[in-house]
Amino acid sequence: MSKVIVVGIGPGEYEQMTIKAANALKECDVIVGYTVYIDLVRDHFPGKIFLTTPMTREVERCEMAFEEAKKGQTVAMICSGDAGVYGMSGLIYEVSVKYPEVDVEVLPGVTAALSGAAVLGAPLIHDFALISLSDLLTPWEKIEKRLYMASEADFVICLYNPSSRKRHDYLMKACDIMLKFKSPDTVCGTVKNIGRDGEEIHVCTLAELREMSVDMFTTVFIGNSQTKEIGGKMVTPRGYRM
Ligand code: SAH
Repeated sequence: MSKVIVVGIGPGEYEQMTIKAANALKECDVIVGYTVYIDLVRDHFPGKIFLTTPMTREVERCEMAFEEAKKGQTVAMICSGDAGVYGMSGLIYEVSVKYPEVDVEVLPGVTAALSGAAVLGAPLIHDFALISLSDLLTPWEKIEKRLYMASEADFVICLYNPSSRKRHDYLMKACDIMLKFKSPDTVCGTVKNIGRDGEEIHVCTLAELREMSVDMFTTVFIGNSQTKEIGGKMVTPRGYRM
């Protein structure tokens, strides 16, 4: 039976991909994905057919994957990080209804919250909330509500899509909401280009984060009331007594 495998490739470097994901890419015929992700894996999987579509053509990209699979090919649809975290696995299942003859399988990957946390130190540790600041598919009011509630409940908060050309002040707006419940001294961190060229981390306070400009290749971490800086790293204590 023909198959579409949705593969989370991790943050960027080949070594952070799971062995199962790498094997799937080695064994498939066609690799479909957004141009940036194809460029990340191309050199490691020579001889594959690579098909790309631009950023906003997600439905088209999924249909392309199923059309290729219908021809009898094994198709890997790649996503950065994990395909089930602001990725394509949900849409693949929705589109799959039109292609009952094609099997779907999902292979997990290391999402930016986890790969970024490892670079920053140990910011997550226990309860945390993952919130995307992109209002392309979610109304901004709902994003604000989630920021409010997660801050009030003293979650560590990890922000994806913290900025873009059209949304350059969203991080500042998000910080203003979080500052209603979290102290301006709350330890925060940003990680840019995790596992890619130009990886860069910053540890700062919530007040400083409010003034920072970050790009769309950055993941942002806001600590809880216990989070501290240890030797330049962002660490949330689990609560063990020493
Ligand atoms: N499916 C992806 C997330 C896609 S949403 C995952 O599981 O990681 C896109 C957002 O994820 C970016 O705006 C950024 O906030 C974060 N992100 C993804 N890859 C990243 C990387 N290599 N470095 C830093 N942030 C990354």
